[in-house]
Amino acid sequence: MKKCEQFKDLILTDYIDAELDRDSAGNLENHLLDCSDCRAFFKEFKNNVAMPFQQAPHQPVPAEIWDTIKKNIEDENQRTNPIADLIDRLRGLIVFPKMVPVFASFALMFLAGSATLETMHVQQAQAKDQGEYLVSLLSTADASNPSDSNSGSTPIEHYFL
Ligand SMILES: [Zn+2]
Repeated sequence: MKKCEQFKDLILTDYIDAELDRDSAGNLENHLLDCSDCRAFFKEFKNNVAMPFQQAPHQPVPAEIWDTIKKNIEDENQRTNPIADLIDRLRGLIVFPKMVPVFASFALMFLAGSATLETMHVQQAQAKDQGEYLVSLLSTADASNPSDSNSGSTPIEHYFL
């Protein structure tokens, strides 16, 4: 039975990583053929520990995650957001690997965050444009004053007349 423990140790460590030399691997495989206990142990280990990593199924992102993301975005903007609509559309298309949803929601939050920043920049730019527009209106009014007082004549005509 002590031998079995040693083989099980090998299964848990080196064999699964294919780091056993050929003789040790041969010994282990021979033992697995003879010993149903170790065989069962090996099978269980392989199915429960090794396989999930090798055959991780791709699963769709849970609907709640999308809803949470969408809700956060809508709460942030208090109105219809093109990003939220985009997520609604993407939601039917994108399938993330099992471990990715958390990362994906971070990525989408980042995306949404930068989109919000973008919107703010646009709003700031619009505010700035309006300011400049007002300034240009004022300067246009200033510039138009002299010609009004000259009744359509240019300064040169005014000088000579
Ligand atoms: Zn055994």
